[in-house]
Formats: sequence, structure tokens, C-alpha cells
Amino acid sequence: MENYRLVPLISSEELVKCVDDLALRINRDYEGKSLIVVGILKGSFIFLADLVRKLAPALTLDFVRLASYGDQSETSGIVRMTKDLEVSVHGRHVLVVEDIVDTGITLKWFLDHLQHLEPESVKVCALIDKSERRRVNLSLDYVGISLEKGFLVGYGLDYSERHRNLPAIYEVLFD
Ligand code: 5GP
Ligand code: MG
Repeated sequence: MENYRLVPLISSEELVKCVDDLALRINRDYEGKSLIVVGILKGSFIFLADLVRKLAPALTLDFVRLASYGDQSETSGIVRMTKDLEVSVHGRHVLVVEDIVDTGITLKWFLDHLQHLEPESVKVCALIDKSERRRVNLSLDYVGISLEKGFLVGYGLDYSERHRNLPAIYEVLFD
């Protein structure tokens, strides 16, 4: 593996504030409704765990695991689902929780997949919206932090399966 350094980018305190703000907006929008929250594994697991503990509506939790072939820092564009939904989303309000939207290809693929299952509504909550490499048109309903670029780790995000456990977010700088 190449040599690299981790540079602090988003502190734990900022992440708490960010999740609080997102939860406030989601709670307002779904007042009186029940929803299915779908986490995209693995990257969203810590964000999702923090977020759902702040959500007020009655909710059911489910996960999918999406993988795209390619190297470690950019998607190949070919998405496959290695773990599917286990609950029915037919006629339900679905909130998809994603860690980072980069090219947007992974999320777009999953949203198309979801549409075939005929949910009542679908919204997306992404912790980080990274816009520079976006290749598809997507509307993100709830975004925690907007950035242009950078490869990030921590708070669920990995580099070659490492650093997911870091409590804050770091940018990876390659030497
Ligand atoms: P896409 O390019 O399809 O939008 O992003 C695919 C996936 O790549 C995201 O769900 C996310 O898990 C991962 N990804 C995108 N940018 C980063 C990043 O900066 N750091 C890490 N660790 N994963 C990323
Ligand atoms: Mg992901």
C-alpha cells in the first residue's frame, strides 16, 4: 500500500452538530408518518447509528450492501448488490442513508432499483456530498456537509477496509 497521511477534516463535535441538524429537518418533514430507513453498507453504519437515535417517527431499519468493481478510490460504474433489502418497501416512505455521494453512480443505481419496488416516496440523506466528480443527475434531499473533492476516511469510511472506526473524518493525503 502507498504511504499516506491522515489530515483532520471534520471533528466529532462538528459531526454531532451535523447529525442533529439533519435529524431536525427529517423529523419535521416526516411528522405523523412512519418510514423505512435503508442504510447502504458498509460506509454509512456509524452515521446511520447516530442519525436514527435522533429520529422521532416510527421507523423500520434495513440495509443493502452495494459494491462497485474498481480501485479503492474511484467507482468503476458497474454496481452490484451483494445484500438486498429484507423488508418490503411497497407503499412505504423510504429514507436512504448514504455516507458519501461522489460520482453518484452507486446511489443512482439503487434509486432506480427502489423505484421498481413501488414505494410511496423516496428521499436521500447523505452525510457528505462531494460534487466535483458527479456523473449523474441526482437530487439529494438532506446533505450534512458539501465538499468539492478529497478522499475521506473515518466515521464509517474506509481506505482498503481500514480507519472505519475513527470517531472523526480525515482526508487521506498520499505521499
Ligand atoms: P459513487 O462514486 O458511486 O457516488 O460512490 C461510491 C461509493 O464510494 C460511496 O458510497 C462511498 O462508499 C465510496 N466513496 C466515495 N467517496 C469516498 C471517499 O472520499 N472516501 C471513502 N472512504 N469512500 C468513498
Ligand atoms: Mg458507500
